[in-house]
Amino acid sequence: MTAPEPGRGPGHRAAHFPVADPATGETFGEAPDQSPEVLDDVVGRARRAWAVWRDDPDARTACLHAAADAVEAAGDRLAPLLTREQGKPLAESRAEVARTAARLRYFARLAPRTRRIDDGRPVRSEIRWRPIGPVAAIVPWNFPLQLAAAKFAPALAAGNTVVLKPSPYTPLATRLLGDVLAAVLPEDVLTVVTGREPLGARLAAHPGIRHVTFTGSVETGRAVARAAADPLARVTLELGGNDAAVLLDDTDVERIADRLFWAAFRNCGQVCMAVKRVYAPARLHAQVVEALAHRARTAVVGPGLDEATRIGPVGNAAQLSRVERVTRRALAAGARAAAGGHRLDGPGHFFAPTILTGVPPDEPVVTGEQFGPVLPVLPYRDLDEAVDAANATGFGLGGSVWGTDLDRAAATADRLDCGTAWINHHAELSLAQPFAGAGASGVGVAGGPWGLYGNLRPFVVHRPEGDGP
Ligand code: NAD
Repeated sequence: MTAPEPGRGPGHRAAHFPVADPATGETFGEAPDQSPEVLDDVVGRARRAWAVWRDDPDARTACLHAAADAVEAAGDRLAPLLTREQGKPLAESRAEVARTAARLRYFARLAPRTRRIDDGRPVRSEIRWRPIGPVAAIVPWNFPLQLAAAKFAPALAAGNTVVLKPSPYTPLATRLLGDVLAAVLPEDVLTVVTGREPLGARLAAHPGIRHVTFTGSVETGRAVARAAADPLARVTLELGGNDAAVLLDDTDVERIADRLFWAAFRNCGQVCMAVKRVYAPARLHAQVVEALAHRARTAVVGPGLDEATRIGPVGNAAQLSRVERVTRRALAAGARAAAGGHRLDGPGHFFAPTILTGVPPDEPVVTGEQFGPVLPVLPYRDLDEAVDAANATGFGLGGSVWGTDLDRAAATADRLDCGTAWINHHAELSLAQPFAGAGASGVGVAGGPWGLYGNLRPFVVHRPEGDGP
């Protein structure tokens, strides 16, 4: 459900904030800017709803299956709204809705396992799992629905209730999702709250919350961890990434170019585990640059609602400025744009898909997270050097190695300091895998059974074997 504004008389209208369409730059909707009183009320209700929800695993399973069906049935309403506020091509929004439903279905089928400890003592020790209480789910604007589901599906399956806060850039599809789910979930089990900051900070610090699960930037992740320290809530942080793709010298460039390009430019490059840097052997560097630049020049860029569009606008004006800033800086430092390198004229937050070469390795577009349609391609002479550079940014979300000899590629992938490594692919995730960044990319483990247990606490019972004393 979406949070109502309590305790106000008739005629009162709560504060709202505008929501812009990144394809036009214009406001097309608004969402409630919810007050601290609303938040207190929502968390209080979530706590009361928990008392019932936590006790009936069979009802939870049924509800989560019904929730998945309801999301799929609402796909034709959710996907266009998501594209409108976020910018991604409609096909990507439809895929995001499908992944949202898939997560609900996956976690509906998972249940924690009671385990016996057998350590030779005449005592039966049993580990059971208990839900922990209301969970705060705070998500960013790049995948509002599927990232929200990655948090609320395991939390609900574990028997917790959830207060979900989307980014103020993308509150509308999430509000609609909240309404769709309200039809199949018990009241107050999942509530969407919207607002500008400090709403997220208040939610992360709220004394009624027992687990804050956050996806977003490293900087905000630190603030969330500090906020949750006072009430001693559990924290799961899925943070930024600066994934490197390391190409080996036996790479068949034409064969992998499409896959590599889209691993960097899907969702306009606004993917935590997009390829954000390419390391190519010096011998192949020019060929790699040209293969990627050709695709950057010919990919159809436009509004996400146009069926022909493959790359939409950057998600919001602030992000566009950031992408432009790091690109201009690299160009001023001597880089060359083999494709793009600039904003596109006309309305909306469009930036030309950009391939950069000759980038000094200490430029922010290499060391930081550009989070946009810009990709530096760096040459290397020695593979050890490339692996060291891939591991040198402090991030550790994902990474990939590309080549023809799969054993050599796998041995190189083993040396990447990250949570997930791919060979000849990038950013393909299984619902059943653990998802955890190394270094600054995260704290805690999401995904698969690990995501479920991240929302539970162990409860251990020791009893003597036999009749006992
Ligand atoms: P962000 O950190 O600015 O915001 C994320 C969320 O936190 C938003 O809902 C925002 O309103 C809220 N927020 C802002 N200040 C807060 C505070 N002080 N306390 C609590 N909440 C607060 O991130 P963004 O710009 O929305 O998203 C892009 C970032 O997210 C990138 O760094 C990207 O890599 C990262 N990301 C990571 C993953 C992952 O799984 N590791 C997935 C997607 C995105």
